[in-house]
Amino acid sequence: MFWRISIFALLQLGCAAAGWRLLGPWGAAGGVAIAAWLAFGWESWRGLRVIRWLREDGAASAGPAPHGLWGEASARMRRRLRQQEQQVVASEQRLHELLAALQASPNGVVLLDAQGHMEWFNQTAAQHFGLDAGRDLRQQVGNLLREPAFSAYLAAQDFAHDVVVPGRDSTPARPVRIAVRLHPYGDGRQLLLSRDITALEQAEAMRRDFVANVSHEIRTPLTVLVGFIETLRTMPLTSEERDRYLKLMAQQADRMQHLVQDLLTLSRLEGSPLPGLDEWTPVQALLRHCEADARALSVLLTPAGAPPHVLRFPADAPQRSRSELAGDAAELHSALSNLVTNAVRYTPPGGRITVQWQTLPDGGARFAVQDTGPGIAAEHLPRLTERFYRIDRSRSRDTGGTGLGLAIVKHVLQRHGATLQIASVPGQGSVFSVDFPASRLRDAALPRPGAASA
Ligand code: ADP
Repeated sequence: MFWRISIFALLQLGCAAAGWRLLGPWGAAGGVAIAAWLAFGWESWRGLRVIRWLREDGAASAGPAPHGLWGEASARMRRRLRQQEQQVVASEQRLHELLAALQASPNGVVLLDAQGHMEWFNQTAAQHFGLDAGRDLRQQVGNLLREPAFSAYLAAQDFAHDVVVPGRDSTPARPVRIAVRLHPYGDGRQLLLSRDITALEQAEAMRRDFVANVSHEIRTPLTVLVGFIETLRTMPLTSEERDRYLKLMAQQADRMQHLVQDLLTLSRLEGSPLPGLDEWTPVQALLRHCEADARALSVLLTPAGAPPHVLRFPADAPQRSRSELAGDAAELHSALSNLVTNAVRYTPPGGRITVQWQTLPDGGARFAVQDTGPGIAAEHLPRLTERFYRIDRSRSRDTGGTGLGLAIVKHVLQRHGATLQIASVPGQGSVFSVDFPASRLRDAALPRPGAASA
């Protein structure tokens, strides 16, 4: 600053001296004025260059005045502009990160302005409501989501709860349910969040059905038991009558016990880790177990004098190929035995039940139970593994069924990577077959040479 004032004073002095010499006192005054105008012109020119630089170039290049006041001003402006540009870039970066996070959200997100226009939405929201960014941005949300329930929700302006609307892909056969909620924020803006609650609602409906079914299944034998207890307490009975009632009571108690056992099995299956590949069971042993169960049940269910069931099982053979199965031996036995005992329970005495074990070309194996029972109509087949689904309730009950057998079988097989197929012709019989994957089968270990003589 000192130098600038000094230079300006020297310029004035110089011009004044030159003017004095040329024109006397008036010349000196003119020289001072000319020096002031020259300085003014010079500074204005430099100022104009700085303004033009600011207008055209911004902070991209160095300012036009490297020295002096204008130099300092342009350097400071350039620094400030640079800082602002960096802030803008950082804000944009943050905005992108925020939008990327919203994009990754499993919920639908729609940003609405104060007038209810859609400013941005993520992919999930587009999927829920069938939105298209090119077509629907800047549109009123009420014009696009025309469900009466949502319109009423918008009109009521009470956003303390969700409103449930059908999703874009909803059909009567496969309903899709979307929960929508608006959250006001900022200056009258709103955030619309949507959640696919189809699976949640289905699980809730299944839970309700399950509780209702269990209650019903337990209430029936309980009512019978209470009735008998009342009779035993209040009526004078002969010892034969007493024995008969006690036998019937024991049957009902048995039924409840089976039901509770099956329920516990199901919950254990749901909660326990998947069976690994380190426990191997010989298939022959499994088949022998199933055979013993089937024969015992057949004896129990065949009335005196009636022809027994004809049971055919694969003969014990020194077979080594794919003859060991990996998994939980108790679970595998319960699943396979369930299929065999079902065949016995639903096939009238004298009927034939054939059990087979075959290796498959892909290295897997198939366990199949064929019976000559009543068969199952096609419409029941997809529902047989549902809990408590029964075609003939009284036959199931009379033979000690709980309606949970095939649900348990399905669970066990899923846990072992196996699949269940059911084929049936009403009036002719059914085939229940299970395919085990190659990964769960291995050849039986060869006996070590000399092991027998040792
Ligand atoms: P349940 O304890 O009633 O036998 P399951 O889950 O084992 O329950 O079987 C479900 C239903 O499938 C049975 O009630 C029965 O109607 C039908 N079912 C199962 N196996 C057979 C079969 N081999 N032949 C005919 N119907 C069968």
